[in-house]
Amino acid sequence: MKMKYTEPAPISELNPLDSMMERFHEAARILGLDESTYEALKSPEKSVIVNVPVTMDDGHIKVFEGFRVVHSSKLGPSKGGIRYANSVNLDEVKALAAWMTWKCAIVGIPYGGAKGGITCDPRELSPGELERLTRAFTLAMRDVFGPERDIPAPDMGTNPQTMAWIMDEYSQLSGYASPAVVTGKPLVLGGSLGRVEATGRGVMVSTRSAMAKLKMNPSTSTCAVQGFGNVGSISAKLLEMQGLKVCAISDVSGAYYKKGGIDIDAAVEFVEKNKSLEGFKGGKIISNDELLTLDVDVLVPAALEDQITEQNADRIKAKLIVEGANGPTAANADRILNDKGIMVVPDILANAGGVSVSYFEWVQNRLGYFWTEERVNRRADRIMKQAFENVYKASKKYKVSMRTAAYIVAIDKVASTSKLRGIF
Ligand code: GLU
Repeated sequence: MKMKYTEPAPISELNPLDSMMERFHEAARILGLDESTYEALKSPEKSVIVNVPVTMDDGHIKVFEGFRVVHSSKLGPSKGGIRYANSVNLDEVKALAAWMTWKCAIVGIPYGGAKGGITCDPRELSPGELERLTRAFTLAMRDVFGPERDIPAPDMGTNPQTMAWIMDEYSQLSGYASPAVVTGKPLVLGGSLGRVEATGRGVMVSTRSAMAKLKMNPSTSTCAVQGFGNVGSISAKLLEMQGLKVCAISDVSGAYYKKGGIDIDAAVEFVEKNKSLEGFKGGKIISNDELLTLDVDVLVPAALEDQITEQNADRIKAKLIVEGANGPTAANADRILNDKGIMVVPDILANAGGVSVSYFEWVQNRLGYFWTEERVNRRADRIMKQAFENVYKASKKYKVSMRTAAYIVAIDKVASTSKLRGIF
């Protein structure tokens, strides 16, 4: 079918929204998506911006800007995390919301996609300030959030405590406990076993699936993990348990390298005590650029967006990249990585273990019945393996990269659902 829609403008500066749009466009073109569906899926359904006044500890009032973007609710209630970071802006949240739509479609869970964020530095706020900010944000978003409408979860800068405040504030507004309004809650409030580890576990399962296709042996393979937050540290630990040698790790304080493999338990313990890897003696200090271009078999970017770019992609030596973070590769690096024959397991597949177990948490909350960790892990692993196979099959069918294949699988599913529902 001929498409009349205009191509996205060429990318000048790195911007996750442009990167997302570029890949969306490419997959839509290959799928032959009709123009009206393309237009409907291109823009978010809803973008809400709020300014919330918060009383700071010293008594003065500071106003914070917060966002919630619902990209799609075609497959079910919209789902996605809330990010607290200085870099949060509307374009970033829009890209992250669309990625959630594609992610949920790939793993086959009945959710649309959303994302939220507040522009702030959570490390500079006291626990009391964080609580007041989170409650004020929840109040401002009371008509957006809802167990059948839009369900937040943790993301960068937020954690189970943040989710507990959202759950409490929303429940107070409803007049009864409403645990299914957020996922990633502490266990005692209705969180799910396995949720904290779920994203890292999915990264490990995807890595194993990809290594099997590439005939790589885990016990003779090396890897580097960028980022040592929830996703990076758990991915590193689980990959180490699979027999890989984790030669390098990093966080905001720098990157650390040890040829014979970093002791991940020691690094985790160090961060628990010191809040960051600053001063960690279990590896020699290298630069972030050196970490990304190390001579390792597997690279796991699990930190921020736009880390792999046209500036460094050519120097990457890993055979396999598994994207733990959302958007770690800028669209302008895709072709370089493809030309080098590097397999990239894209973010919307590789890190979908988190939202899969969020779905299990929501199901358990609605059932009022809780599963064992073993059941959660078994079901999440099955989802991740199946999603990998579906995307791999599409990559062979359309002769495209795993990334383009992932977008094709996702867009196809959302587009066919929208057509059946006939809502435009
Ligand atoms: N923030 C996570 C993500 O980007 C989890 C979202 C969720 O569980 O809803 O996938």
